[in-house]
Amino acid sequence: MDLATPPVTSPSAYSPSKETVRNAHISGRAAYDRLVAEAEADHEAYWARLAREFITWKTPFTKVLDERNAPFFKWFEDGTLNASYNCLDRNIERGLGQKTALIFEADDGAVTHVTYEELLERVCRTANALRSLGVQKGDRVVIYMSMSVDGVVAMQACARIGAIHSVVFGGFSSQALRDRIADTGAVVVLTADQQVRGGKHLPLKAVVDDALALGGCESVRNVLVTRRTGGAVPFTAPRDLWMADLLAVQPTTCEPEWVSAEHPLFLLYTSGSTGKPKGVQHSTGGYLLHAALTCKWTFDLKPEDVFWCTADIGWVTGHTYIAYGPLALGATEVVFEGVPTYPDAGRFWKMIQDHLVTVFYTAPTAIRSLIKAAESTPTAHPRNYDLSSLRILGSVGEPINPAAWEWYHQHIGGGRCPIVDTFWQTETGGHMITPLPGAHDLVPGSCSLPFPGIAADVVDEAGNPVPWGQGGILVVKKPWPAMIRNVWGDPERYKSSYYPQDFQGRYYLAGDGAIRDAVTGNFTITGRIDDVLNVSGHRMGTMEIESALVSCTRLVAEAAVVGRPDDTTGEAICAFVVLKGTLPAGPDAAAIAGELRSWIAREIGPIAKPKDIRFAENLPKTRSGKIMRRLLRSVAKGETSTQDTSTLENPAILEQLGQAY
Ligand code: ATP
Ligand code: MG
Repeated sequence: MDLATPPVTSPSAYSPSKETVRNAHISGRAAYDRLVAEAEADHEAYWARLAREFITWKTPFTKVLDERNAPFFKWFEDGTLNASYNCLDRNIERGLGQKTALIFEADDGAVTHVTYEELLERVCRTANALRSLGVQKGDRVVIYMSMSVDGVVAMQACARIGAIHSVVFGGFSSQALRDRIADTGAVVVLTADQQVRGGKHLPLKAVVDDALALGGCESVRNVLVTRRTGGAVPFTAPRDLWMADLLAVQPTTCEPEWVSAEHPLFLLYTSGSTGKPKGVQHSTGGYLLHAALTCKWTFDLKPEDVFWCTADIGWVTGHTYIAYGPLALGATEVVFEGVPTYPDAGRFWKMIQDHLVTVFYTAPTAIRSLIKAAESTPTAHPRNYDLSSLRILGSVGEPINPAAWEWYHQHIGGGRCPIVDTFWQTETGGHMITPLPGAHDLVPGSCSLPFPGIAADVVDEAGNPVPWGQGGILVVKKPWPAMIRNVWGDPERYKSSYYPQDFQGRYYLAGDGAIRDAVTGNFTITGRIDDVLNVSGHRMGTMEIESALVSCTRLVAEAAVVGRPDDTTGEAICAFVVLKGTLPAGPDAAAIAGELRSWIAREIGPIAKPKDIRFAENLPKTRSGKIMRRLLRSVAKGETSTQDTSTLENPAILEQLGQAY
């Protein structure tokens, strides 16, 4: 948006129904305002109250926040706890032993229910197996597994013995895996023979072997292999061990390791959409608190809910909203091995119907691709399924374009389910800015207001507050319990990335731009800071142009916009577009590009017309499905990229983007 133009309040706001408000944990705007006021009056007392309510402590904490070594903040440091105890034993002690914890659906549709008691037993055996190999508190364990009960068990088992897990997404290459193993100095790698996705068997163990052979992973003593497919895999004795052999001789109980609240629970590498991935280090106490709290308030989770977060455990969303948050609340959740398009693009909708899912949480990239599929394949359309069990929908990972939001709301939510558009990051541990279903009016494209206790705001380059209605830089002005504690092994990078001197090290810098609505104060994320364009002195967020392109629903399935240097206008706008139809070339492509320029001129203004438009069958994406803008920037400039593409899912796409119209 142009900073000089008067702000516009988004016209379409959806208010929650009376019933939603009445039944919600945070019931009504006044309830939200009271929590915000409580946190503002005494930030530490607010978080301490919740930490006592949501966590069972072995030793209660006496100190809340320690800022002496800022920005290396500590929360609840002298309190001790165990994350796995809080997620498992505690629920069983409360009588939930026979309740289903996980509903696992395999790629081929086979369904397994795992109760809290069964889950605890599996976690204990696995924890004992790790201990039997000498794994100790503070040791790192890399988990390279696909979506599975065993994957969740592996994470919980590490937590039980105080080992620090680092999950690496099962789609990563041997090189990316090697880099992460080497960076963490892991002593054990947990993997499976193979993984099954979309009917195909894909290697896991063989990739681990390749990664270890690349060198630099001498810290690894053992590789533990779970059987998934029974496919033949290379095996190196005595380093490699079958998990089943180890588990067979383990006791079914395991005393938890009680750790300080500040003990690292896990390391997780960011998705790399802006640069080399960073090993984000999270704490045990503060992290678990926010995981449980946000599950309860943002998703309004109740004991009878069936929650389904479609993220992979390789991403932070799969940590907070699969492995920890729902279990800490004693919830029932779906874990899905496969992909949304197999056997057809109706898979998600069928699973919602079959498992009576009530709260569904997915990413805009999935929604956009399923819209495209539903329009081209009538049998995959959600109208063929009974989605009436749903009550709340969520979105995460990227800004959700208003057009995709409306489709999600109408076709999946039947016009009745609130959508929580949750803004957060690997580094923040859990939701930062998000609607609460019973408290906020929803505006498509806006993530609404900060979670109570999160001091998010928008400032200018000097760190001064900007008035509502003007775009700026998103910051968090106070530390919060679930925040990143360090970049593993690189404290300087932690400081320079998140507490830069630009703001005298006072504020946490998210790296995203935002604008607050002039009237409601609602936040809209405008894209990464690097993605704010300056065209002839007009500052525009790339997100706004992307959303305008995607709102041309007749032609456009997906779009990304970046800037490139331009002699006359300073920066020029380059749009990368995936059409709903086939990939155009020559005069056809030029004609469509012309049509899209006129569309943008009408939707935003002639100043926002892209100078270059490039078409492809897909956009270059990270393995977590995010558009890789740094690559697009170098394509826009016409550079041959020398960038780190280890996290790129579909390298072949770069070829198609060569031609600008
Ligand atoms: P890297 O930090 O390595 O560049 P990344 O930032 O993509 O990778 P993540 O931590 O997975 O890694 O993603 C967080 C980012 O995703 C946010 O900073 C923001 O840009 C974007 N994001 C997540 N959720 C939302 C949302 N609801 N609305 C807008 N943007 C979102
Ligand atoms: Mg990031």
